[in-house]
Amino acid sequence: MARTRGREKNPMATAKNLPVLRVPRFAMLPDKGAWTNRFEIRSSSSNRIYVIAQSKTGRHWGCSCPAWIHRRTCKHIVSLGLPAFERPHEVALQGAG
Ligand SMILES: [Zn+2]
Repeated sequence: MARTRGREKNPMATAKNLPVLRVPRFAMLPDKGAWTNRFEIRSSSSNRIYVIAQSKTGRHWGCSCPAWIHRRTCKHIVSLGLPAFERPHEVALQGAG
């Protein structure tokens, strides 16, 4: 095992000073296809679960809800402070709790 002495915990996040997005650890999901930084959110108006994720190639954020699929914007990504309309945006995703 290499000894790093904990100096390089997350060089990308610290170097770029990215905004931090905290997500409950239980809601975080593994990458799937072209999507990374995936996590589940529960709809406030129903019991549905939607998935928020970041495109690996375009670096924009998307949601699995009908609004985002049809219009590329929805209340879920807006309420998280993420940009709509497939605008690239980087955050440091942190599991919390
Ligand atoms: Zn949505």
